[in-house]
Amino acid sequence: MNESDFNSLSLKDGLRDNLASLGYAQMTPVQAQSLPRILSGVDLICQAKTGSGKTVAFGLGLLEKLDVKRFAVQSLVLCPTRELADQVARELRKLARGVHNVKVLTLCGGMPFGPQIGSLEHGAHIIVGTPGRVEEHLRKGYLKLDALSLLVLDEADRMLEMGFQATLDAIVDKMPKQRQTLLFSATYPDEIRAIAKRVMVEPEVLQLREQH
Ligand code: ADP
Ligand code: MG
Repeated sequence: MNESDFNSLSLKDGLRDNLASLGYAQMTPVQAQSLPRILSGVDLICQAKTGSGKTVAFGLGLLEKLDVKRFAVQSLVLCPTRELADQVARELRKLARGVHNVKVLTLCGGMPFGPQIGSLEHGAHIIVGTPGRVEEHLRKGYLKLDALSLLVLDEADRMLEMGFQATLDAIVDKMPKQRQTLLFSATYPDEIRAIAKRVMVEPEVLQLREQH
């Protein structure tokens, strides 16, 4: 067993089995470097190029930390677009399959609002969504984040480019200060540093250089 082996991590047995059946044998470099830190509970900024395996990095962290017996929204993943949110939700469901009854709910713009209210009434452990729609559900009181312990900003650079800064601030304003925050980005411009200062506590910064 080497350090890029998923077995070097402390993970629930079911997650381990799912990784094997998904054919994920070795951690990618971003996973090997970020997962021990994510599991230790620190705030982390992780910059790595597209396609490096960031979804599994935060997905495993989030599923390992989840208390399935507590049926409340414990993790929120914000993505720039509906397509990305759907992709992340699919990956999370695959990682969680058969482990427990983990409920992942997507809340994206461009989808009818009413059915999302119904889904929220049924409850979820994990929400994956786009900032505008998540903020609207929060503002209107359909979504409560009192039990939130983990926030993931995925593709944070793109969310900021799309003008979601104020929306992200409004969302973060309505969640517990006592939480872990993870920020993933392909680039690391000043705008990322600025938002990290507002929503994270002494984040560690992990920057993966291009491999080739
Ligand atoms: P990123 O978010 O960094 O752009 P993704 O999370 O979308 O990257 O992952 C890119 C691809 O790599 C996906 O198809 C995913 O299934 C695959 N992948 C992720 N982790 C592993 C792994 N440990 N081994 C093999 N394939 C992986
Ligand atoms: Mg990604």
